[in-house]
Amino acid sequence: MSIIRPALYVVATPIGNLGDMSQRAREVLAAVDRVAAEDTRHSGRLLSHFGIATPLMSLHEHNEAQRTETILARLAAGEAVALISDAGTPLISDPGFVLVRAVRAAGFAVLAVPGPSALVAALSIAGLPTDRFVFEGFLPAKAGARRTRLEAVAREPRTLVFYESPRRVADTLAVMIDVFGTEREAVLARELTKQHESVTSGDLAVLRAAWLGDAEAQRGEVVLVVAGAPDERGAELDAESRRVLDVLRKALPVKQAAALAAQITGAKKNALYQYALKVARDE
Ligand code: SAM
Repeated sequence: MSIIRPALYVVATPIGNLGDMSQRAREVLAAVDRVAAEDTRHSGRLLSHFGIATPLMSLHEHNEAQRTETILARLAAGEAVALISDAGTPLISDPGFVLVRAVRAAGFAVLAVPGPSALVAALSIAGLPTDRFVFEGFLPAKAGARRTRLEAVAREPRTLVFYESPRRVADTLAVMIDVFGTEREAVLARELTKQHESVTSGDLAVLRAAWLGDAEAQRGEVVLVVAGAPDERGAELDAESRRVLDVLRKALPVKQAAALAAQITGAKKNALYQYALKVARDE
């Protein structure tokens, strides 16, 4: 295949099932001059599985700045370099940001060879809204910081996606129950595309009980997909109260509009007031 030189190719690799390696990923990895990989031993096995003999160099979170200089020099010499991570799409909770930013800033081409990512794989099967979502990556390891991060997204209406270590799933679910409430719907996607793949859905309490009840399943890689916070805007107001308020608030200050709408419709003044404030903020 024809390769652009110089260029950096950002290549996605399987998240477990080698059958997900794309034809283009194989061709690009075979054609470039060098492959930068998080763990060269791990990726060496992947490349040799596909009969690819391109030399590897390491690029991980501890040497990314230094390796970026090396790769820039290779690009300046006219080479094509590929970046892969241990699994899935580089830069998605994986190294590569420093490199991609520097290569773009230096004016070289950066080309995507898209493919698997646990984030998209989990979202695609979770059965939760996918039109808008928030990827939170890994939560902080320390309990206090983890809770603070979850509190910051407690009212987030978009679907939330988290990567989580199996060692912390039970604790994280406990804090989520505390912060989001037991009834928030969620999906725990485990070992996607692999032999022991499993997907559990239900509210957070159900998920935690299922996780604790299955020692066998408490291993492997996990994505947690959590429904966004319910839209409370005007939830307790009927359509007619909202309609009356919408008319009044266009002509009157919010407080007066809410008071008048309460008199007309019999709805609670404070609920109308809060609703009017939120609508005004969103406009
Ligand atoms: N770059 C990767 C991607 O595109 O998905 C993610 C790398 S991140 C270091 C690894 C995390 O991704 C795991 O801890 C887990 O949360 C998630 N993950 C990766 N492979 C997975 C799989 N097969 N099933 C479920 N989660 C997976």
